[in-house]
Amino acid sequence: MLPSPTIVVTRGPLGSAAAQVLEQVRAGGVLHRDEIVARTSLSVATVGRTVGQLVEAEILRQRPDRTRMGGVGRPGMPVEVNPVRFVAIGAHIGRRIATIALCDLAGTVVAHRTLERPSGESPDLAELSRAAAGLLGRSPDRVPLAAGLVAPFGELALDRARLGLEFHELTGLEVATADHIPAVVATEFLHRRQGAPGVTLYVYARDTIGFAVAVDKGVQTEVSRVGSLTHFPTRSAVECSCGRTGCLEAAAGDAATLTAAAATGLVPEPSIEKVYAAVDEPAIGALLRNRARTLGEAAAVVRDMVAPDRVVLVGQAFTGCEAVLDDIREGFHTATALGELPVSFTRFGDGIQAVAACTIGLGPVYDDPLGIVAKTGTR
Ligand SMILES: [Zn+2]
Repeated sequence: MLPSPTIVVTRGPLGSAAAQVLEQVRAGGVLHRDEIVARTSLSVATVGRTVGQLVEAEILRQRPDRTRMGGVGRPGMPVEVNPVRFVAIGAHIGRRIATIALCDLAGTVVAHRTLERPSGESPDLAELSRAAAGLLGRSPDRVPLAAGLVAPFGELALDRARLGLEFHELTGLEVATADHIPAVVATEFLHRRQGAPGVTLYVYARDTIGFAVAVDKGVQTEVSRVGSLTHFPTRSAVECSCGRTGCLEAAAGDAATLTAAAATGLVPEPSIEKVYAAVDEPAIGALLRNRARTLGEAAAVVRDMVAPDRVVLVGQAFTGCEAVLDDIREGFHTATALGELPVSFTRFGDGIQAVAACTIGLGPVYDDPLGIVAKTGTR
């Protein structure tokens, strides 16, 4: 596992005035200036000036149709994130598929493409850059501001710093990189759109299994403390590539589940979704329930070590099969020694790779919105 630098998901009062205003408008949708003042520690004059600069830079736009009349002084015209001017580029490298996407400054993916890639080879970033240029060519009014590069770098033995630099040289943009699991966690946190004070533990399970912790530090929230659960010991007798037996990914990862299900002869094609769909077959049901309990128990042990305020289970190995959610909960509650705790499930569709890469690509924009627009030379 690579050392995992922190991802800042909310910046709060430590950010520049522009970063604070953009963060509040992004979270709030359409906001009046007095509402921004109330949500930040900025003065009325600073908010007024900063909103003006962000509108001038086309990062925010006015919503004259939502003008508020009445009261003293000028009528208030609220602002929202300008969804049509700028984009961030997101590139996600998976084991067999690479994804390239564009998102607007509110984080909505507006275009994406997937490309097959030969398993085990170094990713072809030049091809991904050309694909990004192709997507941009279809929306000539949009200007890219920054890019994100996300991959399970450690699992795929990829050099994160070198690839980040290469992507920067190819695109000419500031490039932020992040490992897959913390990127997914940052995405979950940002798209939930409601506060999660204290410490939130996210356990992720799909192809890979791991965890990350989001810590609300009062002034900003960071995703940090990322750990791999690939070789986490379970009671399973399955052999792992590391030479030991019972490692969590070998026992309960997608590939292991697919192999075990295929051995029953009850699944028509090698797809994990087909395995979930066959849960009513007793042999498949038993396999999935056993896996669910194993995953729930592993999440409980991590919970007991981290002692978070809440646990969120993320990834299709947790959420892909409705019928076994109770088995996951039961495994968790039986194995934890620290008493009751809220456990919730977050479901992401197939688009998670695009959204997660775009979320990381928006980081440099959210950090310094005016500075990054100035660098593009569009003004
Ligand atoms: Zn192992």
